[in-house]
Amino acid sequence: MVEISEDTLYDCIIVGGGPAGLTAGLYAARAKMNTLLFEKGTIGGQIAITDLVENYPGFPEGISGKELSLRFKEQAERFGLKVVKGEVVKVEKSGREVILHLRNGQILRTKTLIVASGSNPRKLGVPGESEFLNRGVSYCATCDGALFEGSPIAVIGGGDSATQEALFLTRFGSVVYLIHRRDQLRAQKHLQEKVFSNPKIKFIPNNVVEEIKGSDFVERLILKNTKTGDLSELPVEGVFIFIGLEPNTGFLRDILKLDERGYILTDEKMRTNLEGVFAAGDCRSGSTGQVAVAVGEGCIAAMEAEKYIEYNF
Ligand code: NAP
Repeated sequence: MVEISEDTLYDCIIVGGGPAGLTAGLYAARAKMNTLLFEKGTIGGQIAITDLVENYPGFPEGISGKELSLRFKEQAERFGLKVVKGEVVKVEKSGREVILHLRNGQILRTKTLIVASGSNPRKLGVPGESEFLNRGVSYCATCDGALFEGSPIAVIGGGDSATQEALFLTRFGSVVYLIHRRDQLRAQKHLQEKVFSNPKIKFIPNNVVEEIKGSDFVERLILKNTKTGDLSELPVEGVFIFIGLEPNTGFLRDILKLDERGYILTDEKMRTNLEGVFAAGDCRSGSTGQVAVAVGEGCIAAMEAEKYIEYNF
């Protein structure tokens, strides 16, 4: 277990254990900065629930998101990064120091903070979505796909996540309906090609979910055609929702400048409006949702944090 101390002035504290945070941790720890990384959920963030990462360089066959995350962590820990399970709920500035309040009541002091808190799945906001959560409704195909062996499954969304996860879910479902509000998918072309050539995937364009219905578990969807307004019923047992992400930045709303969608504004050196506070990865305005980019941003943030300490402490 990692010891943390309220008496220590840390060099760097990182919030978030996805690719951006773990890369920042690797660089900071390797630069001999006394560094803690807080992760409240699963190490790896969004990629930990991605079946196969095919576009991160160095893995020609692709690599499972979970394994890639654990490799990032192992590499950073080899250089002394301390990874702690915990949640930062409030950030303040006191003179040059950044003060962090943890959910468990502890208060920590650090010279620099790197926010790499990532994002969470966006909700549809339709009747039945929260009621049937874990009873047919899911936001994670790798976690829950196997529960729907031999059953009809619906995937909602038209981006990279929806298409990639629909492909993964064909391992389990008797059929996978890909339901999208427009007639064109937003996903990368090679994912679209795979989807359209997979006989188990049935594309349902121009439709939105009006309601998720069932008794104990999900039994059917009520769909609305966006062109005609017609309603229809689709019998399914699993509903996987991949309609984009929302930044995990609520705890910073009072102290950092965010864009209109809640993403953290930085300059090209990952500096936020607050001296000593940096942001990297999916929580940052202008980031791209790619592991390779998150890794690069984490690297920049840690190198800038190191420079900041050199000139300011
Ligand atoms: P995304 O690219 O934002 O796509 C969200 C999809 O959901 C869009 O097709 C959107 O429709 C649809 N949508 C949004 N709100 C909706 C609503 N209320 N009802 C119905 N449909 C709705 O999100 P994502 O697929 O989760 O990807 C997030 C980021 O991660 C992206 O930058 C993506 O490139 C990246 N990513 C990359 C990979 C990869 O490289 N292999 C894999 C996964 C994710 P419209 O198209 O009509 O807007």
